[in-house]
Amino acid sequence: MQWKDRPPAPTEFGGIRLGRVQPGKDYEAIITSESMAGHDTHWWKRRTVPCTAPDCAACCEGTPARWHGYLSVFSTRTRIHSVLELTSLAAASVAEYEDRHGTLRGALLSASRLGNRPNSPVHVTIVPFDGDLRTLPRSIDLRRFLETIWSVKPNSEDEQGEPPRGQNIRNTVRADPPTCTTGLLKSIGHPDVIEAAKSNGKGQK
Ligand SMILES: [Zn+2]
Repeated sequence: MQWKDRPPAPTEFGGIRLGRVQPGKDYEAIITSESMAGHDTHWWKRRTVPCTAPDCAACCEGTPARWHGYLSVFSTRTRIHSVLELTSLAAASVAEYEDRHGTLRGALLSASRLGNRPNSPVHVTIVPFDGDLRTLPRSIDLRRFLETIWSVKPNSEDEQGEPPRGQNIRNTVRADPPTCTTGLLKSIGHPDVIEAAKSNGKGQK
């Protein structure tokens, strides 16, 4: 037996959640990060993964990539420090504010979904916070936080749901990633390739 008379140290981002604006709930928070972090992501195998193009398995399978912006935020209602994910549409006013003011830290962000669906558009307003910011917590390191949650492998349940090897083209793709490059799939729809195919057709007449 190995006695451990102290609880284990918490992991670096233990307890910090990545959230989105929920339908039917007005969201209000003070931004604690100086700037917004952003990355292209895929909704792939029932989770969000970063796009790793030019060598990206999700791109290989034809899954569309979408940009998302991330902010470190301190909720005025719950006083919980978390990371907020915004779509490109919702993030536009945040980017504009950051460019105009030089920083996002201390800005008051209000957001709400313009509809009842989880993917309804989000409306964001952002203004300087008119209050005491001396106790505002330090920003969460957004890039390190996202790298940490994105490096977590899919859980085994996802893998168990897969059909047996060799019965599905997706398995072939996964078994041999070097032959399924993003470039290969892109070249199929590339104008140069289409033009070349057309002129070949003409030449045969
Ligand atoms: Zn990708």
